[in-house]
Amino acid sequence: MPANSEERDLGAYDLVVVGGGAAGLWAALCAAEAGGSVCLVSRKPLAESASFHAQGGLAASLDQADSPDQHFEDTMKAGRNLCRASAVRVLVDEGPGIVDDLIRRGMNFDREGDGSLSLALEGGHSHRRIIHAGGSQTGREITSALAQMVADMDRIEVMEETSAVALVSDGRRCHGVITEDGTIRSPATLMASGGAAALWRRTSNPWGAIGAGPVLASAAGAELADLEFCQFHPTCLSVPGTAFDGALITEAVRGEGATLLDLEGERFTDELAPRDDVTAAILAQIEKQGGREVRLDLTAIDPARFPSVFELLETAGFDGTREPVPVSPGAHYMMGGVAVDLDGKTSIEGLYAAGECACTGLHGANRLASNSLTECFVFGRRAATAGLEEEPGPMPDLPEWRFDPPQPPTREAVWQFAGPQREAAGLARLADDPYLLARAIGSAALNREESRGGHRRTDFPETDPGLDFTHLIYRPDGEIALRRWD
Ligand SMILES: Cc1cc2nc3c(=O)[nH]c(=O)nc-3n(C[C@H](O)[C@H](O)[C@H](O)COP(=O)(O)OP(=O)(O)OC[C@H]3O[C@@H](n4cnc5c(N)ncnc54)[C@H](O)[C@@H]3O)c2cc1C
Repeated sequence: MPANSEERDLGAYDLVVVGGGAAGLWAALCAAEAGGSVCLVSRKPLAESASFHAQGGLAASLDQADSPDQHFEDTMKAGRNLCRASAVRVLVDEGPGIVDDLIRRGMNFDREGDGSLSLALEGGHSHRRIIHAGGSQTGREITSALAQMVADMDRIEVMEETSAVALVSDGRRCHGVITEDGTIRSPATLMASGGAAALWRRTSNPWGAIGAGPVLASAAGAELADLEFCQFHPTCLSVPGTAFDGALITEAVRGEGATLLDLEGERFTDELAPRDDVTAAILAQIEKQGGREVRLDLTAIDPARFPSVFELLETAGFDGTREPVPVSPGAHYMMGGVAVDLDGKTSIEGLYAAGECACTGLHGANRLASNSLTECFVFGRRAATAGLEEEPGPMPDLPEWRFDPPQPPTREAVWQFAGPQREAAGLARLADDPYLLARAIGSAALNREESRGGHRRTDFPETDPGLDFTHLIYRPDGEIALRRWD
């Protein structure tokens, strides 16, 4: 039932943004600079987001020997014949301009001794093209700078520690956002509420990454897509039963020479293959070793290049400079989300999505490392620009529905039944889960009867070429539809 406080009118804006990570902050900034009035709602203080934790950096073709075309090829290849080519084209063409823009605004990316940008290498990239800041503290540097820019902007009203609990929608058009404190009216609502990888019990993500955006959007009448594709990062720290279990060790350390070792101390895979391949190799090796985790050897890495990684290891009780550390895959990135076009438009009018909560189809079945921060900027700006074109309509009655967060049994069930390896009987058990997104993930993963990228079915181990470039859409009525995107 709508509580009175939720009915309080918190005002009208040209754009309301839900989320204070890279996508939300950037979109708010772009809209305000274009002359719009913006309200940004964030469940946590602005600095606390997955964006803050990003370690590797942003991918963009900046080196003379590199090109957008080569970035395009690498992204398409990693995405396993499921990337939406038009979205990839936008990302690779607009990415370098975004980097220039960030530098013009005073963002300090790491540089080589000769003053040129320092470019790192990550799995699946044919060139060095990852720009970074503060070594492995890229997210912290970027979000802190953006949060300051947003705070300095008169046209942006920031509501921190305020949660969106529903959207004002009549099923065809969105008119704003309902928070615990009141209702914000706007002709354009932009969901930038982050990913859903913390829905899996073993995760590299902050606990708030539970996919609130897709749940709110679906309840408002929007379509979701590609939910069967979660990326399981190969090298999450494995210390079960502690707070460090699942903590990410960035792929960039493998780009600088860190190796994966079996129980005998031998390498067993190509550490710089795309993530789905490395994850599969680790899972196979763990099985061969009777369930014991593999080790990541960072002893040849300069700790000064990755200070936060070595600090994390030390706090967790490991000396990464002296001994290989135990690692195994954990849920890291949600390729699926709210289905959007290249301007962030969802299937209902006035509702937009950008960043990890959105699904443009850009990442296909397996995201290429460090494409997601670039995505937040490229598609965040496009969605903000498109959103400002919307005209206000008459407000419908407030809906009764309210967001209810997932409980620990849901996270356990999603890890157990929709983890790095799944099969029909387990997935079917998610059909009765109380959390909409757990049901939707189960349904999409059950319907995709093949293995591809992050989606590995033990009962359908092969890739079905008939499903190339075919996306599974989760409709608001819970049905699955197949769609091919231009
Ligand atoms: C440890 C780690 C390392 C990573 N490293 C990299 C990397 O090096 N390069 C890269 O490209 N990607 C990396 N990623 C992925 C990348 O960080 C994310 O995909 C990206 O930052 C997502 O940004 P976002 O703005 O969409 O969401 P987020 O940064 O997750 O922000 C979401 C925001 O929405 C708010 N929110 C959520 N629900 C609600 C609600 N109901 N109401 C109001 N507000 C809400 C949250 O409080 C938060 O402010 C990494 C991820 C992790 C976890």
